Amino acid sequence: IPRMQRGLPQKRRIPDVKKVIVVSSAKGGVGKSTIAANLALAFARRGLRTGILDTDIFGPSIPTLFNISGEPRLSTNNQLIPLSNYGVKSMSMGYLVGEDAPVVWRGLMVMKALQQLLHEVEWGGLDLLVLDLPPGTGDVQLTISQQVEVDGAVIVSTPQTLSALDAIKGVNMFGKVNVPILGLIQNMSVFICPHCSESTHIFGSGPLEKKCRELNLPLLGDIPLDGRICEDADRGMPTVVADPKGVRAQAFGQIAQNI
Ligand code: ADP
Repeated sequence: IPRMQRGLPQKRRIPDVKKVIVVSSAKGGVGKSTIAANLALAFARRGLRTGILDTDIFGPSIPTLFNISGEPRLSTNNQLIPLSNYGVKSMSMGYLVGEDAPVVWRGLMVMKALQQLLHEVEWGGLDLLVLDLPPGTGDVQLTISQQVEVDGAVIVSTPQTLSALDAIKGVNMFGKVNVPILGLIQNMSVFICPHCSESTHIFGSGPLEKKCRELNLPLLGDIPLDGRICEDADRGMPTVVADPKGVRAQAFGQIAQNI
């Protein structure tokens, strides 16, 4: 039965964008935005024309991660023009609402602003758009997955939030809206000692592999718990740009390749 007849909104492709992938997580604070940013940069380094769209309305991170502030300009046909840094085009709720805007006000603007972010940005020709979703499986995530043609989803998890993955799989949000799950990324898997660089599996190794088998999903890669990744993110120069030849950047590059 056609979507319209079932009363579902029609999915639309984001204009001028060849492929859209969403980066999602069951919970907040697992490093989803850090990973989305580094992956976008890794794709750009592989020669793809890449953009990143931050749809996290209450905690936009892309302005900080890409060290971008200021308001986007409007094009002649009233489309938002993305702001660029490090070779990646970006658009964020943070550019539109401002970090100091009260949360209540942001809440009122959510759906309107979301529509604008999804359908009224002049990306100007992209091979790939990385969409940083808010954590969880609420209205915003559902709206996005229902309204936009998404080519695939990657899910970020830490060893502690493994169990929450069942929620994503359980409510089967992506399945319901016909978005294929490309696989899982495990963040903060191994602790790298800042003094001796020794790696320690503080949460044990193996649980994610087991979970992937249970859920029948591929494991796209691991990112260690490493203070450098956090420092780089905080100063607005993500690891793939700050230390492009380092092991951490290589880990992101490998995941980009696996996607
Ligand atoms: P989320 O988008 O899931 O809320 P963030 O990307 O904002 O999470 O990350 C939360 C915090 O953890 C940030 O301070 C970030 O710099 C830090 N962080 C993320 N991944 C790592 C990592 N692999 N090693 C160290 N710190 C990390």
